[in-house]
Amino acid sequence: MSSNEVVVVTWGRGGEAFAGEVDDILTLGRGVAAATGGALNWLTLGPVSDTIRQTAGTYGVANIDHIEDAKLAEFSADATVAALAQYCEQHSPRVVLIAQGFDVRLVAPRLAAKVRAGVVMNAAAVEVDGGGKLSVTASAYGGDTRAVYEIAGERACVVSVLANAVLPEAADAATTPAVRDFAVDLAAVDERIQVLEKPKAEGPRLDAAEIIVSGGRGLGDAANYKLIEELAEALGGLPGASRPIVDDGWVDSSHQVGLTGTITRPGLYLAAGISGASQHMAGCSAAKTIVAINTDSDASIFRYARFGVIGDCLEILPELIRAAKS
Ligand SMILES: Cc1cc2nc3c(=O)[nH]c(=O)nc-3n(C[C@H](O)[C@H](O)[C@H](O)COP(=O)(O)OP(=O)(O)OC[C@H]3O[C@@H](n4cnc5c(N)ncnc54)[C@H](O)[C@@H]3O)c2cc1C
Repeated sequence: MSSNEVVVVTWGRGGEAFAGEVDDILTLGRGVAAATGGALNWLTLGPVSDTIRQTAGTYGVANIDHIEDAKLAEFSADATVAALAQYCEQHSPRVVLIAQGFDVRLVAPRLAAKVRAGVVMNAAAVEVDGGGKLSVTASAYGGDTRAVYEIAGERACVVSVLANAVLPEAADAATTPAVRDFAVDLAAVDERIQVLEKPKAEGPRLDAAEIIVSGGRGLGDAANYKLIEELAEALGGLPGASRPIVDDGWVDSSHQVGLTGTITRPGLYLAAGISGASQHMAGCSAAKTIVAINTDSDASIFRYARFGVIGDCLEILPELIRAAKS
């Protein structure tokens, strides 16, 4: 590495579910490419669908680079790292942007080590100064603070970007990206990690929800989570949760909002019995309106909430459900 190119990398989902999923990192990538003076390319491991072409054009992508190989049909970390390293060695991108997810934690640091690049996880912004120096702002210490990493010299950097960190913005002028095939040799790759069971990912996604009703330890008991589900349904939203009630098995981890759960950006986020710890707020503070119900008037959540109710959520939630249904 490195040229001035910026590459956004995606894999999985057969290319069909990308609308609304990469808009933020493509927006970020376009800004960085404009500042480095390089092209914005999108590297996809898998088929190039119409959705990918359309989205790429909307966000100003110059080239869609495409790798297809039997070893990449299902996600496997070693094959993905090997394919990306071969691509990076040939193209020498200055910045590799990947949307942070569970798979990415297995890929980004290893890719960076293989191609001798820097790596920043939990990133929220990338800036390039007048002299071309890169700096990456990322969430640090479990979401308690933000750190700014300066990438020394002309070194390349692999950046894993938190979901919803950037507001998507289409390019002023749409492009018609060229599709370029890139051949990789993965024959020598021997996968070291075997996935025995995949988490279920059915139904609507929390990170795309406009309304989220979340419950925390203040609900008191697993059985009371049904109040959260009922209110979410009545409002046409989705139920969320703080981490302790996920850890205690009240609800499955697909509902967890926060730094180690899902990062959301809904229009309305209603938090019942949630204290407002920084790690939870990392997943919902970008909501347009936060409404909090808490018995403790000093709870941190009230610092973020536009509307707050000091009281027992077990009394207030049934009233809200009644009102929402009527
Ligand atoms: C590295 C790391 C990552 C983490 N990631 C996450 C994450 O992704 N998501 C996450 O949520 N947490 C995460 N945490 C945990 C986080 O620090 C907090 O411990 C957690 O968010 C607290 O959950 P809570 O608000 O439900 O519980 P508590 O902090 O116990 O708060 C319960 C709240 O309910 C209120 N309450 C009690 N009874 C009632 C009632 N009847 N009606 C109304 N209010 C009531 C209390 O006043 C209190 O404010 C992480 C921690 C670490 C260290």
